[in-house]
Amino acid sequence: MPVTEFPHPHPARLLLRGLLRRCPRCGGGRLFSSWFHMVERCPRCGMAFEREEGFFLGAFVVNFGLVLMLLATYIGVGVFLTLPNPPPGKLALGGMVLSTLVPVAFYPFSRTVWSAIDLWMKPLEAEEIAAAQARTGVSTSGP
Ligand SMILES: [Zn+2]
Repeated sequence: MPVTEFPHPHPARLLLRGLLRRCPRCGGGRLFSSWFHMVERCPRCGMAFEREEGFFLGAFVVNFGLVLMLLATYIGVGVFLTLPNPPPGKLALGGMVLSTLVPVAFYPFSRTVWSAIDLWMKPLEAEEIAAAQARTGVSTSGP
């Protein structure tokens, strides 16, 4: 069945698609040629992911926020479970490992999650829709 429309999805659907490393607009996949390299446009709907210069700074903020939440949880639970004598060295070492591995593991997800958040806050403009349609030849609908 050919895809003829990409209506603006519900915010929960946008976020779910982002969490699954899919295009927030259409749900299409194959957005990464490697773990660290994202394609410029969605192969299915043609949406450009980098919507403005510095766009993916938001992905960094998403990734950084996740690391901070996990680190706070790790330290809080670690201290609570080891009371009355929490081992600061072991907790710090675990925190460093967590702070190194999580951003790498979550990197592609942070980009698609940020794309979803941005699309939710700022639906595609007419020019972006036209550019996407020109890339795919698929009829699209606006926000
Ligand atoms: Zn798409």
